Amino acid sequence: MPSPATVSEANAEDWLQEGTAIVHATFGTGRVVRVGPYKGARAAWVDFDRGYRKTLDPEYASPHVRLRSPADADSALDPAIKCDACGDRPVVVTIAGAGGTQQFCEAHTTSYRP
Ligand SMILES: [Zn+2]
Repeated sequence: MPSPATVSEANAEDWLQEGTAIVHATFGTGRVVRVGPYKGARAAWVDFDRGYRKTLDPEYASPHVRLRSPADADSALDPAIKCDACGDRPVVVTIAGAGGTQQFCEAHTTSYRP
């Protein structure tokens, strides 16, 4: 019998495929939208049902991610998570500045104003 640690390692990367529905311990339910290189390392982009897209490092994220099962309810959309410019989701960048936090969708990633 494999130890639980071995099983967990064997399954750790099952989720790293575009289109895979997952549950993240912190971010909730979501779907992998892309897997690829980011700043020289492998990364996974996940659109979470709460309204944000996160770029995850598989090495650090895998212990917190599992494949979604039909029993997993959608994580509730957070009404506060939306693009400051247009209101769209997912929010792909969140920037904390002197005037507070600003967040933007993919189309408005350059809209940050200090
Ligand atoms: Zn926008």
